Amino acid sequence: MTARGWEVGARLRAGEILVFDGGYGTMLFAAGLANGACPELWNDTHPDIVQGIHRGYFAAGSQIVETNTFGGSRLKLNEYKLGDRTRELNEKGARLARAVAPPGTYIAGSIGPTSRLPRDYALDEGVTDEEYVETFREQAAALAEGGVDLFAVETMMFPQEATAAVRACKQTADIPVMATMFFQYEELHERDRTMWGESPPDVARSLLAAGADVVGMNCGRGPDRAVVIIREMRKVTDAPLVAYPNAGLPITKGDAVTYELGPEAMARDYPALLDAGCNIVGACCGSNPEHIRRIAEVVRRRTT
Ligand SMILES: [Zn+2]
Repeated sequence: MTARGWEVGARLRAGEILVFDGGYGTMLFAAGLANGACPELWNDTHPDIVQGIHRGYFAAGSQIVETNTFGGSRLKLNEYKLGDRTRELNEKGARLARAVAPPGTYIAGSIGPTSRLPRDYALDEGVTDEEYVETFREQAAALAEGGVDLFAVETMMFPQEATAAVRACKQTADIPVMATMFFQYEELHERDRTMWGESPPDVARSLLAAGADVVGMNCGRGPDRAVVIIREMRKVTDAPLVAYPNAGLPITKGDAVTYELGPEAMARDYPALLDAGCNIVGACCGSNPEHIRRIAEVVRRRTT
């Protein structure tokens, strides 16, 4: 039996544009997640709230919704002394999302960075490629067990960690892998680069070479930079591309963090993002279902 996730590629090849979801952090904090608490633990302790967020995104028009497992690798969960619950928290996260997915939609198992630096960067204290692969294989296996349709390796800062995560997913299950990296805008040079200095074409090539089925960008800055990044990636590949940028830059006032772009302002850049050749569009930090509703409208207007 072929995994349902492979339908995504077929739909994109047929010219469809799919809508991804928006941010989770802001919504979990709004629901009472304490600063410094483990968001993935809520898959066990607050399943209704997590599921409510998934439902909100489906209702807003998301066709691919992510699991609440961004920090679900053992290396990351160890920070909260929850490494021993890796399997459980990921499997629960996948089942929560799966249970509320309407027909014709997909669940992507979120796999974010471990927050541990690669060996090349941190020398003796750094994580080796083998250790990265091992931790991501464990997470990917639990997500697959919980029933995800695809994997979303995301917000990756370092190519070593990103490619290890992609390889780990490919070794674990016959499910498509989306892989996206975090780019910083270097104002001085008017260009976008990863923490390791890779350009958008470098990233597209290395993630595809590692086995990713869909590549792109997420988080980072706003949609204006996503347009440029996707345009550059499109020059070097015909593979499906995905972008889910932040709602602009964060604005910190005391303890509160808000983001520059409201739903309408954010959606304004999405026609250009589609023109640049993006196949899956969504939003990241600072966005909520209202942002996704506007983005879905742009997509619908384009394709009907
Ligand atoms: Zn983000």
